Amino acid sequence: ATPTALMVGTGRGAQLGILIKGPEVLEQTRRVDTVVLDKTGTVTTGRMALLDVVPAAGEDREEVLRVAGALEAASEHPVARAVAEAAAQAGPLPAVEGFANVEGLGVQGVVEGRAVVLGRPRLLADWSQELPDDLAAARASAESEGRTAVAVGWDGRARGLLVVADAVKPTSAEAVRRLRALGLRPVLLTGDNAAVARAVAAEVGIDADAVVAEVLPQDKVDVVARLQAEGRVVAMVGDGVNDAAALARADLGLAMGTGTDVAIEASDLTLVRGDLRAAADAIRLARRTLGTIK
Ligand code: ADP
Ligand code: MG
Repeated sequence: ATPTALMVGTGRGAQLGILIKGPEVLEQTRRVDTVVLDKTGTVTTGRMALLDVVPAAGEDREEVLRVAGALEAASEHPVARAVAEAAAQAGPLPAVEGFANVEGLGVQGVVEGRAVVLGRPRLLADWSQELPDDLAAARASAESEGRTAVAVGWDGRARGLLVVADAVKPTSAEAVRRLRALGLRPVLLTGDNAAVARAVAAEVGIDADAVVAEVLPQDKVDVVARLQAEGRVVAMVGDGVNDAAALARADLGLAMGTGTDVAIEASDLTLVRGDLRAAADAIRLARRTLGTIK
């Protein structure tokens, strides 16, 4: 394509709400055949709501929420915001000391002298805080409905389960249809549990065998690399700090404009409005600009 065509292409992109880092990006965009989609904040709104608090036998529901909320108040994660907001509505939250984020798994810290851990049940298991049968059952039932269950424990025991869910963006199913119409294969990639991931995939029209769940943030990049090793030309769409390495590694990185700066910096394209349909627009635009389709 001529430099003029490329400039027109990038200008047209801006009109469509697509910020393109440089004209050369259009060439990468044109060749893409696989689109890896992050789930939380990309396919879904990322605005989670707390649906349920399940105390373990002998625990107090309000106390479970208060301690969990205190810890989550120090985290930016969508799950954390849902828990902290609901807890703050019930009353003042105690301070946290020694707060630490455990990437892709949860958080830990000291609340009123208790060593608290909160996140994926796997994280609690690492602390020898296996879920008792009642919480395990509540977890299975929440996950079968496509909800995310995180657990909170302190002083050596799991104390309760917090059930959260967010909604698929109203434009995501249409976006997946448009990507397919362009001949691209959509893949859903997430750190969330497999049951939730499958439910979201079904809702937007992604095949069950194209769902990769329970992936730690540092391993998301390996999923992209594996597809590339299979000969795929991979676009990755994401919004979070946990997506940055995969966005950089992908042949084409697309960041949600509603996402974190780290994701935007790691990407070639930014979808300004956080609307996944713009990913399909970007690919069509590149093919047109470079004369592959009319
Ligand atoms: P995604 O890949 O869907 O954007 P993340 O990698 O950010 O998800 O997180 C994976 C999982 O780890 C979440 O679904 C949640 O279960 C758990 N998790 C991570 N951070 C937190 C937190 N601050 N509080 C509770 N759970 C968390
Ligand atoms: Mg995300």
